[in-house]
Amino acid sequence: MGRVLIIGAGGVGRVVAHKCAQVPEVFTDIMLASRTLAKCMQIEKEIKDRTGRSIEVAEVNADDVADIVSLIKKFNADLVINVALPYQDLKIMDACLEAGVNYIDTANYEPPDDAHFEYSWQWAYQDKFREKGIMAVLGSGFDPGVSNIFCSYAQKNLFDEINYVDILDCNAGSHGHHFATNFNPEINIREVTQTVRHWKDGEWVDSPVILDPKSVHFSFDYPVVGKKESYLLYHEELESLAKNIKGLRRIRFWMTFSENYLTHLRVLQNVGLTRIDEVDYEGKKVVPIRFLKSLLPDPATLGTGYTGKTVIGNVMTGLKDGKKKSVYIYNVCDHAEAFDEVGAQAVSYTTGVPAMITAMLVLKGMWKGTGVYNMEQFDPDPFMDALNKYGLPWKQEEFNGELPE
Ligand code: NDP
Repeated sequence: MGRVLIIGAGGVGRVVAHKCAQVPEVFTDIMLASRTLAKCMQIEKEIKDRTGRSIEVAEVNADDVADIVSLIKKFNADLVINVALPYQDLKIMDACLEAGVNYIDTANYEPPDDAHFEYSWQWAYQDKFREKGIMAVLGSGFDPGVSNIFCSYAQKNLFDEINYVDILDCNAGSHGHHFATNFNPEINIREVTQTVRHWKDGEWVDSPVILDPKSVHFSFDYPVVGKKESYLLYHEELESLAKNIKGLRRIRFWMTFSENYLTHLRVLQNVGLTRIDEVDYEGKKVVPIRFLKSLLPDPATLGTGYTGKTVIGNVMTGLKDGKKKSVYIYNVCDHAEAFDEVGAQAVSYTTGVPAMITAMLVLKGMWKGTGVYNMEQFDPDPFMDALNKYGLPWKQEEFNGELPE
């Protein structure tokens, strides 16, 4: 049915490639391309061993539009899944425009020299994608991604209007390292050290960063894994959901962090190792956070021996037939089970599976359009069915717990 080009052979790229290979009736031809060909070849071999399928691999410089266009044309791709880094988003979108193919990613663009992400840069492609008759689907991992779909599913099927959304992301797993990040360390540390914001009554409200003693946090009782300290954090889906969910008064994002993680991060920040600007080191220019990344465990290798679970979901409160109601929809994913299936930990797994599902719905023509879209703008029902079928089953419960005011 479709030829898919996956760009980026990290933790998430590995999962996307494996999951696409498991659905041959949709993904008839698969190419995995990345900066380091050896990583693509390793994944190619694992897929052959596990599924018997052959995929194609290639080296690509995703900072170079001409290089990407030439690969898209050579492979004759119908669709590109971008699971490289957010820095490459605009170049890959430019290449898709030039080649006339649909585009999917899992994280919004951020400029390398400014730790700041927002959708404006990618939403600015709206007219160009529309005029070309192709579509871009932004943020199709778990959060953003499934967190958006939980909202649109609730809006379509459970509420007349949703007034309050709290997205709660818990990783209760243990990777056995003193300090490691579960996806690209540079992107992860930039994300968690930036200004915290949530949206209330049409305005963005700033709060202290997670390392500040005055940061906003509380203990949430997660299903299966129990109580965990959860910190208010800014996350990109807040921006699109604040625009697209009717009747919304407040939307917040919470993520769990252990004391151990925060202590390490505080020290790294205090000594300057999380800086994103260049410093002189023995006559050479070094970006400290990139140097730090080279010392930390590669997230793609964390899967071995990773135990425990992730629990990610949304608490949504609103009105149905004039009555107030609160619903919690969530997924529990086990690190070791994910590793057994595709050789990756649950954070990569929960990102890669939704990207594959989005690609499937686009290739099948079940999600269609021209222009640039966020996930909540499509019909959530086939996506929710596919989550259950392809490895991320979800549960829906009435919510009677407590959240901070
Ligand atoms: P990794 O760093 O493990 O993988 C990124 C891959 O992209 C690497 O293989 C890297 O190559 C490749 N790459 C980087 N730059 C280029 C380039 N210029 N040209 C070609 N290839 C390049 O990251 P993850 O797999 O952990 O994350 C992938 C994406 O998923 C990120 O954008 C991340 O923000 C997003 N994400 C989204 C989540 C969600 O829920 N929505 C959750 C987690 C992650 P090399 O191997 O040579 O370094």
